[in-house]
This record gives sequence, structure tokens and C-alpha cells, in this order.
Amino acid sequence: MTVRNAWLLSLLALASAVSHAARAAWMERTEAIMGTRVYVQVWADDPVKGNAAIDAVMAEMHRIDALMSHYKPDSQLSQINAHANSEPVKVDKELFDLIKLSTHYSQLTEGAFDITYASVGYLYDYRRHIHPTEEQISKSLPAVNWRNMLLDEEHHTVRFEHPGMRIDLGGIGKGYAVDRGVGILKARGIQHAVVTAGGDSRILGDHLGRPWLVAIRHPDDPKKVVTRIPLADTAMSTSGDYERYFDENGVRYHHIIDPRTGHSASKVRSATVLAPTATQTDGMSKTAFVLGPEKALEIINRMPEYDAVFVCPDGRVLYSNGLRPPVPRGPTATSPRVPP
Ligand code: ADP
Ligand code: MG
Repeated sequence: MTVRNAWLLSLLALASAVSHAARAAWMERTEAIMGTRVYVQVWADDPVKGNAAIDAVMAEMHRIDALMSHYKPDSQLSQINAHANSEPVKVDKELFDLIKLSTHYSQLTEGAFDITYASVGYLYDYRRHIHPTEEQISKSLPAVNWRNMLLDEEHHTVRFEHPGMRIDLGGIGKGYAVDRGVGILKARGIQHAVVTAGGDSRILGDHLGRPWLVAIRHPDDPKKVVTRIPLADTAMSTSGDYERYFDENGVRYHHIIDPRTGHSASKVRSATVLAPTATQTDGMSKTAFVLGPEKALEIINRMPEYDAVFVCPDGRVLYSNGLRPPVPRGPTATSPRVPP
């Protein structure tokens, strides 16, 4: 090749790179999947590739939903709930592994996170304002105990060892799906993105040289922001008592259940957890919600990968050590209160 040809070629390459860069843009889409809002935003240098990447993430969410939804009678999860009381039920390794992982969180949190919460949880219907009576709760509560799930590693079977048991992956499945979505984007060369499913999000990269600013909403007003946190390459999950709920006689019945009591947990209004993956943050946000700030911060401050923000019933906002500003020299700062 002559020197002149080489020059021409590199000029052409440069021109194509420039036109490529000129077409780079943020692309986003929202779909209703897994009973929630799934949102994907990517920075793509080519709209065709960007669209295909978003398609692939949405398809993955549908696949996970078909496997793990308790609303779908033919899902493998529903098969477990239908038959594991009488025999071991064989499932895909993927589902088996997620169930096993959920028991890891149960162990870590002394049972505050427990997918067998569903043995009582199914008695609530937030849309129709139905909650169980005390009698119904005390009858079903003995079935809530992750230790009574027999997991056979070799055959990938699940067997319940207590009558009346049920499981539900609503507390970890969306985080898992978000992580799978981010994996798909990475494999396609996407470097900046956000994937969200319900209260679970993961940020890939930064916002073109700056962090993303993620807001934590006020528990009583979706338009008010309690705090904003700059984030890059992180996952974040918020569990709140304002997502699926109804109020009756001054009591809020909502979708996060304390496995020890069978009642909706009430120590905080919202718990936000940050960690590298959304599977981690999803699992731990229920835990933080059920345990309340003191006990949860004790656990979270022990684990360097995790951080948390709590909005308390009295309006205080509490942060884990990793998010607290450096200690001021003067009198100790008190946490600001969220105005009602
Ligand atoms: P979202 O579903 O919007 O992501 P959360 O992450 O807060 O909201 O998850 C709430 C879901 O977690 C509930 O709808 C229920 O399926 C499940 N869940 C509730 N309590 C528990 C618990 N103690 N342990 C495990 N999962 C729970
Ligand atoms: Mg979640």
C-alpha cells in the first residue's frame, strides 16, 4: 500500500468514527413486565444497536417473569408452590440457585429476609384491601421459616418440610432481572446505562463523565425529594411502605412483611440500599426495612460493599457510615428531618 493510500484509509476511518460519534445518543424505553415498570436507558453509538440491546433486556425480563412469577400458574415457581408440600419439585438450575441465594440472605439477616414469608403474605390483597385476621396469621405463621425448605443441590429439587408453605421471589427477582439486563448490555459493548425494575436499579458506568444523581422520594409525596445521591457503577433498591398498600383504622397494610410477626413492617417508611449488584440491594432492602435502622445499620456497616439510607416514621433521614459526610469539627451535626 502506498503512503498516500494509507493516509486516505485513515482519513476515511476518522470520518466514519466522527459520523458514528455524531449519531451517539441516549435511548430509553419503559415497559410493564413482572407486575411493575421496567425502564432501560442506554448510551448507544448506533440507534439500531441501541434498540436491539433494549429489546434483548426486555426479552430477558419476560423470560425471568415466565420462570418465577407466582401470578403465572405454569411458572416453575408456581409448580413449587403447588407440589413441594407433597414431593420434591425439580426446577431449572437458575431458579434453584436464586432460591438458594435467598436463603443466604435469610441466614445473614436472621430471617428478616425470607421468601417463605409468602405462607402468610398470600393472605394480603392490597388492591382489594384485604388483610388476614390475627387468627389466620397465627395459623399460617409456623409455615414461615426458610429452614423448612429442603434444597437438593444434586437434583435441583425443592421440597417443603412444613404444611402450608409457599414461597415468593418478589423480594429478590427484580434485582436479579436487573443484573441479568446489565449483563446483556455489557456483553453488547454498552458502557453507560440504567436498568430499573420497580424499586430496583443498576447503573452501568457514569453519565458521560459525571455521576448519575439518583433521588430518594418523600414517602408521602412522589414529587418531593428527600435526598439525592451521586452514583456510578452501582445498584440501588428502595423498599417503601407507599408502593403497594392500603390504610385501615390508622394502620398501614403494605407489601413488606415481617416474617416473625406476619404483619407489615413499620420501623421505617423507606429503606434504600446501595451495593455493586441489584440482587444484593433487592434482598437487603427488605431486610433493612424489616429490621429497622439500628439493627440494619449494624449489619450494613459491617459489610463494606453496602450502604443504606433510611427515612424514619418521624421524618429523620439516617445514613450508613459510607454515606455520612466527614465528621464536622464543631458540635455533632444532627440528621435533618424531612418536613411532613
Ligand atoms: P419492588 O417489588 O417494587 O421491587 P421491594 O423490593 O420492596 O419492591 O419488594 C417488595 C416485595 O418483597 C413484596 O411485594 C414481596 O413480594 C416481597 N417480600 C415482602 N416481605 C418480604 C420478606 N420479609 N422477605 C422476602 N421478601 C419479602
Ligand atoms: Mg425490589
